[in-house]
Amino acid sequence: MAKPTAPKKRLKPDPDQSSSNPLLDKENAEKARWAARLEAIGRRAGAAAKLLTLDDQSDDLSGSEMLKLRQLVLHSGAPRTMAIHIRSFERYELWASMHSLDPFPLHVDKILKYALTLDQRECGPSVIPALKTSLKWVAARLAIDLPDLDDRRLRALQESVITKRAKTLKEAIPFPIAVVASLEAFVCNDHRPDSSRLFVWWILCMIFASLRFDDAIHVRPDELVMNDEGLFGVAWQTKVDRKRAGTKFVVPAVGFKNKEWLDHGWRILNSSSLDRDYWIPELNARTSFLARPPTYQRTVQWMRFFSFAAWQDDHPEDKIEMLKVQTTLSNLTAHSCRVTLLDAAVHAGRSTEEIGLQANWKDPGPLVLKYTRNRTSVPATMIKQLVRELVQEQHPITEDENTVLTEAADSDLDHIEFFTKNQAGKTSYDYKFHTTALGDPSIIACNKLDISDCSSVGNVLPDLSVFCKACAKARPDICKFYET
Ligand SMILES: [Zn+2]
Repeated sequence: MAKPTAPKKRLKPDPDQSSSNPLLDKENAEKARWAARLEAIGRRAGAAAKLLTLDDQSDDLSGSEMLKLRQLVLHSGAPRTMAIHIRSFERYELWASMHSLDPFPLHVDKILKYALTLDQRECGPSVIPALKTSLKWVAARLAIDLPDLDDRRLRALQESVITKRAKTLKEAIPFPIAVVASLEAFVCNDHRPDSSRLFVWWILCMIFASLRFDDAIHVRPDELVMNDEGLFGVAWQTKVDRKRAGTKFVVPAVGFKNKEWLDHGWRILNSSSLDRDYWIPELNARTSFLARPPTYQRTVQWMRFFSFAAWQDDHPEDKIEMLKVQTTLSNLTAHSCRVTLLDAAVHAGRSTEEIGLQANWKDPGPLVLKYTRNRTSVPATMIKQLVRELVQEQHPITEDENTVLTEAADSDLDHIEFFTKNQAGKTSYDYKFHTTALGDPSIIACNKLDISDCSSVGNVLPDLSVFCKACAKARPDICKFYET
């Protein structure tokens, strides 16, 4: 397995080195960019977007007050939520323009036609419900009139897609428990570089607390508390709960092989400055970090790399099993951390209530409410028991077929964005779609263009034939997705 390479481009200097909220600053900048893209949709919508076109006359509000309120509306939402809905809306616009339709005003027939196209592309079961949410989200902000999305035909199509695709739903692959055990040993190994051990420790914390990748980034390390029970923390921003209170989590002091892994990593973490608003920085090389929050793509590459290295350390002789493990590990995503123990819990026949709590779902069912007074202690207890049982039994006990993990993996391609050159010339190359380099969203994969000379065209490639050949060579993962 190839070692992730360092980014080719120079890093952008931090505009304010003294800030102790670099991640928050970055996300505010991101919000501003998405607000601008939302406003651009509004301008394209013309008269249909009443937020931008309504007369600024008001008896009670001054012009500058109106303007301020408009900006507040455009900026409202978490950056990732804004990104998802705005991109989804832009994809609809792109589709409409490719079919010589005016996307505005929104009309149910246009949306039905688009939904039929999505079905033909074998979209996932959540795509049409998600599209409806995105249409509502954008329309509400820009004050665009929305047709009836409960239209009987649209509902029937949505149901048929869900039935057809439910079976092929791609779920995140859990880490094999043997690999988790090897990762524990890796963190306990003093001969390994501290930076690598700290990274692996963070991955293990995600696994044992069933954390989402996003949550595991949004943790102030100086707010973490360690005691005999485990490591207690708060994710200050999550997809589920946008309130500043954050989501509490606990990494119980347990292990499949070495329960000391938690202490080792804690000591390494505390040997350097903790004044930042993200848990650990981006791993650059095995022995060094970069002064910025981890990115999704590089984290996944490092995660696969260390998982395989750690497993090989533990099983140097086992050549046949090695190929199997290697294949499994090459399919891990950041979401794998979140599902590993949940998956083990399902197979061990844990109740949905216990699982709901560990997963921190919005509505884990009324039965769970009685536990909510101390939200962290139940999942920690459950994980402790589960680890003990799995260590003793070697095998999962019984499968509860009524227990289904409803949350599918976040699509890997959600993070991909395509670009076209701003100034198109005469050659067909000037009209090609490009994308960003693997692990570095600030450069174009083919390296023939500067990202500042390009405009984003959303995250859908209309056809492989318009994809830049050099970008395609650098991003086989994208080609594979569009080929199948
Ligand atoms: Zn290119």
